[in-house]
Amino acid sequence: MKYPGKILPEVLKTAMKPPVTVRYPYERTEIPEGFRGKIHFDAKLCIGCKMCMRDCPAKAVEIEKIGEDKVFKATFYLDHCIYCAQCVDSCPKKALASTPEFELAHYQRDKLADIQK
Ligand code: SF4
Ligand code: SF4
Repeated sequence: MKYPGKILPEVLKTAMKPPVTVRYPYERTEIPEGFRGKIHFDAKLCIGCKMCMRDCPAKAVEIEKIGEDKVFKATFYLDHCIYCAQCVDSCPKKALASTPEFELAHYQRDKLADIQK
């Protein structure tokens, strides 16, 4: 380093400040409004149009009819989902919504298929 003395004031300035990081998971920050976390599916509103499936850029959502009536279930592949919320925007019936839930990591990949009825 050519001029180590030049960075000294900056080092001293930042050494006196508290860290900007938080000690997660022991400390938590407030989740901002509009945060795009895990998707919630409301089966009562779904009409099975599959617009969400068509528009999902990650192929992370699957809609299937269950039973004889027009009842649908949604499967979200959380290991594929990029939490873009395009499915929420595409749904004409507001059957999908982003939630603040973000702690979705798992050791077993097959546990990341989130089936909602
Ligand atoms: S949030 Fe994005 S990636 Fe995830 S299921 Fe919806 S459209 Fe697909
Ligand atoms: S876009 Fe909405 S209404 Fe259509 S299948 Fe998906 S969740 Fe159901």
